Amino acid sequence: MNNTKGIIVVISGPSGSGKGTIVNELIKNEQYALSISATTRKPRIGEKEGIHYFFMSKEEFLEMINKEELVEWAEFCDNYYGTPKSYIEDKINKGKDVILEIEVQGALQVKKIYPEAILIFIIPPSLTELKNRLLKRGTETSEIIEKRLMRAVEELDFVKEYDYLLVNDSIDNVVNEINMIIKTEHFKANRRTSLIEKIKKE
Ligand code: 5GP
Repeated sequence: MNNTKGIIVVISGPSGSGKGTIVNELIKNEQYALSISATTRKPRIGEKEGIHYFFMSKEEFLEMINKEELVEWAEFCDNYYGTPKSYIEDKINKGKDVILEIEVQGALQVKKIYPEAILIFIIPPSLTELKNRLLKRGTETSEIIEKRLMRAVEELDFVKEYDYLLVNDSIDNVVNEINMIIKTEHFKANRRTSLIEKIKKE
């Protein structure tokens, strides 16, 4: 895989779909690098600056937009979220696969800028399961949970724009499926142009 470019892997899914846990498992693999987003949302208990997000004020976020430092950004349930540009470019050029855990509007912007990115959507086995997971997590008020559930249903309309749809019946299964998808994508002929050039030169 050495001299091939890394792949941008976008992972989306409703709050409570388990995508955060899945991403945490995935990034134990050194082939992957996790993009850290900027957000105006307040940190949850246990969340750390620069590890979970770059937390900032609305003014600071707008300044990043003005300076064109974000690949994409979106408003989600009253907060802004965006992906810093420089990290992605640096990592894919070094051959790492960069994982972006972002919502649908941002995912579609990424696909426009990087058509070779792969978009994976994760859904829970049912909406009831989703609600139970959000309640169990206990990090949001019931008002925010309702808002996020409404948003989850809206997001489903965009799933057809994604390349892959996975059902989170078990974290291990989904992690294996994502590893398999990324591995297979690396074999695609149009991602292996440097290999073709090398053979031609020989
Ligand atoms: P949370 O507040 O639960 O951490 O994230 C809310 C939603 O924002 C999730 O769907 C998450 O994937 C998404 N999100 C996180 N970072 C970004 C980002 O940089 N850009 C976009 N468009 N969405 C993001």
